[in-house]
Amino acid sequence: MGFLPRFESLRNFFFPQYCAQCGKILPFYRLLVCEDCEKGLPFNHPACPQCAQPYPPSQTPHLCQACLKGRAFSKVWAPFRYEEPLRSWILSFKFEERFERARALAWLLKKHLPPLEFDLAVPVPLGRKRGRRRGYNQSALLARLAFKKKPGYPDPQTGDPPSDPAGP
Ligand SMILES: [Zn+2]
Ligand SMILES: [Zn+2]
Repeated sequence: MGFLPRFESLRNFFFPQYCAQCGKILPFYRLLVCEDCEKGLPFNHPACPQCAQPYPPSQTPHLCQACLKGRAFSKVWAPFRYEEPLRSWILSFKFEERFERARALAWLLKKHLPPLEFDLAVPVPLGRKRGRRRGYNQSALLARLAFKKKPGYPDPQTGDPPSDPAGP
């Protein structure tokens, strides 16, 4: 038995990693979602290159009417569509605290977004009442898992001061 298969069976024995979709044990080089389930995800293609509005499969990507007229933003990245199985993932980590699915979503987002340079990631805010009831804001959780906080900037959700006082 070579080193890797031995390492893999040891890891699977002590710390098995399961696919967040089908529950299969993952090989050591995969995190969170197996290859087959990842291939079956609803990738947002074709879509408008500016606002990411999805088009039917027969169309080639082109600017939509609204983007041709001019928008107040320059770009939207939406690697996936709000369709199954991702729709169920989002609902289950939003309402059933299935945080392994939030981790899998964050991993997929990072993997399928182009390298982005930005100062702040601001999650969609949650109403105070609903936030208290749920105990967490699912977009903030996803943003924290997917994007590292830049030192020197306040936390956009809490307004907490920068963790790195030497930052800008
Ligand atoms: Zn799977
Ligand atoms: Zn558009």
